[in-house]
Amino acid sequence: MIIRHLAFLLLPLFLYAITPPQQWGENVTGVTTKFHSTKKEIALTFDACGGSERSSQYDEGLIEFLTTHHIPATLFINARWIDSNPEIFMKLSQNPLFEIANHGTAHKPLSVEGKSAYGIHGTASPQEVVAEIQGNNEKIEQLTGKRPVFFRSGTAYYDEQAVAIAHTLGMEIGGFSILGDAGATFSTPKVVQQLLGAKSGDIIICHMNHPEGGTREGIIQGVEALLNDGFTFVRLSDVHKNLVKIP
Ligand SMILES: [Zn+2]
Repeated sequence: MIIRHLAFLLLPLFLYAITPPQQWGENVTGVTTKFHSTKKEIALTFDACGGSERSSQYDEGLIEFLTTHHIPATLFINARWIDSNPEIFMKLSQNPLFEIANHGTAHKPLSVEGKSAYGIHGTASPQEVVAEIQGNNEKIEQLTGKRPVFFRSGTAYYDEQAVAIAHTLGMEIGGFSILGDAGATFSTPKVVQQLLGAKSGDIIICHMNHPEGGTREGIIQGVEALLNDGFTFVRLSDVHKNLVKIP
C-alpha cells in the first residue's frame, strides 16, 4: 500500500517539476461535465460541505422528497459533514437510491500550488492533493465498506495537474453542466428555472446542507416538472461508461 501511494506521488511531483499547471477553474481538462445518453436522463448531484455549523446542516425534507419519489442521486459528502452527522451519513449510505461520492477531506479547492477560489485556500502541493482526496476516501470506505468513485473538490475548482493526480488515484472528477443553486444562494424560482433548462446528459449541482435556502422547494418543483416531461434520473456510476470529459 505504501509503495503504491509513493508511486502515485512521484508521477505528479515529476510532472509539476517540469511545468506548472496552465488551467484553474471548474471546467479544466479531465473534469466530467456531462454524459452521453440516448434517453431523457439527468444526473442530480448534491454537495454536503460541512465545516461551520451552518454548512453542516442537513436538508431532511429534500432527501425525503427524493426517497418518496424514488429519485436516485449522487451525494458529494465532505469528511467534516460526516463527522457532524454520523448517523445521518450511515442512513444515506445504506439507501440504495444514493451513491456516496467524495467532497474532500478539508473542503479545499484542488491545486498543486496553493491557488484559492472564493477566498478559500487550495491545497498547496501534489502531496496535499493526494491527502485531500484519500483522507475522505479512507473515511468513507471504513464506514461503508465502499470506496467512492467520484470526487468533487470544495468550491469545485481544480488545476489540470490536480485532476490528473485524482485520475491516478482511480477517481473521476464530478463536475457539472447545470448550476442548480449556486452554493444554495438561488431563490426557489431560480432553482426551478435552472432545472428546467436541463437536457438529456446534463449533470446538475445543488446542495443538501442548506435547508434554509431555496434549494429544496426548487428541486421539488423542478424535478416534478421534469418527471412530467418524461425525464428520469441517474447516479453518476450508472453512466460511468458514457461520461463526457473536458478535453
Ligand atoms: Zn462544498
